[in-house]
Amino acid sequence: MASIFTKIINGDIPSYKIAEDEYNFAFLDINPNAKGHTLCVPKKEVDKIMDLDEESYMRLMAFSRKVGVALEKAVPCKRVGMSVIGLEVPHVHVHLIPLQSMANATFQHKEELTKEEFEAVAEAIRAHL
Ligand code: AMP
Repeated sequence: MASIFTKIINGDIPSYKIAEDEYNFAFLDINPNAKGHTLCVPKKEVDKIMDLDEESYMRLMAFSRKVGVALEKAVPCKRVGMSVIGLEVPHVHVHLIPLQSMANATFQHKEELTKEEFEAVAEAIRAHL
């Protein structure tokens, strides 16, 4: 069965899309650690990041860097943190998280955003790509 992220990539489930290329897709995390929390996902459905072939891994990292640079310009923060967990969704994804403090990196504190806030931050990130 297709993962929830494959359904997002295929447009079967809505998302706040940030960017897309031939191999990867970026969208806002729906339950963000902080405003602007973005996920970068390879279109090829692989569960664990260490199981990606090297080329796909390098492409995902380059894509994540591009999105992360835009995110850092768009959202005031001390820096953009990057982490890969994957315990909830078995489809590789890189978390890009605007950090003000360590609390933003722990996945314990979540920020509630309205639809309008999601749309506005997505637009701000896209504007810096
Ligand atoms: P993990 O697999 O532990 O790295 O976490 C999966 C992440 O995917 C979590 O931060 C979720 O909030 C996020 N997530 C799950 N479903 C969706 C969705 N439909 N749209 C955006 N983000 C999602």
